[in-house]
Amino acid sequence: MSKKKKIGIMGGTFNPIHFGHLLLAETAYHQFHLDGILFMPTKNPYYKKMTNSVTEKDRAAMVQIAISLNEHFHFSGEELRREGATYTVETLRNLTKKTPDCDYYFIMGADSLYHIESWKEPAAILSMAVILVAGRGNSLSGALTSQIEYLENKYDAAIHYLNSPMLEISSSDIRRRIRAGESIRYLLPREVADYIYANDLYRT
Ligand code: NAP
Repeated sequence: MSKKKKIGIMGGTFNPIHFGHLLLAETAYHQFHLDGILFMPTKNPYYKKMTNSVTEKDRAAMVQIAISLNEHFHFSGEELRREGATYTVETLRNLTKKTPDCDYYFIMGADSLYHIESWKEPAAILSMAVILVAGRGNSLSGALTSQIEYLENKYDAAIHYLNSPMLEISSSDIRRRIRAGESIRYLLPREVADYIYANDLYRT
């Protein structure tokens, strides 16, 4: 019997993608011996206000540029192909149906794990993917440990701590800096910054 492939999913609004996202995925790849990581921009993050002029095409293009030099990072347009609000549970249902020879590992930051019960069908999500979660700060906090234990006791869930160095970078701070005319150097790949300036993104 052939072994199932271990595929990481790095989902995000990526508005824009930055080194925090890339480092998280790279750490997950090595720490959990994954076979590859799918970078999957969310089409319609109903839980976020998208007030700037950036289109989903821009967000996807920036992801493709950012991951292009990493051979184990792959782009997935899975969520971009669906209309309406984007739900992770639908993504996992589609993927597990299309590729039953893969096990999925959903990579996330701690904030997402604290909110996961407000997502659509959390029990189904947790049954279809192993969760790899990174904390804020460089160690596993008591609050995150409690949340992992709580979810594992309540659901059929496997949640592992991702021991990733945390970069204090956020997409909202990058957008703020651009509006304020401040530097975004060293926060994201230079080629992504070039795309942002060439397309005049985030200035208003
Ligand atoms: P995002 O803001 O682009 O962030 C993507 C991921 O990167 C998050 O898990 C975030 O952690 C993490 N991250 C951000 N900055 C980081 C840094 N400096 N270092 C390390 N990690 C960092 O994307 P998002 O809008 O939160 O969406 C994440 C995924 O959750 C997407 O796939 C989305 O579809 C899914 N989602 C699904 C539902 C649903 O199904 N109902 C609802 C909400 C989200 P934090 O969470 O800690 O910020």
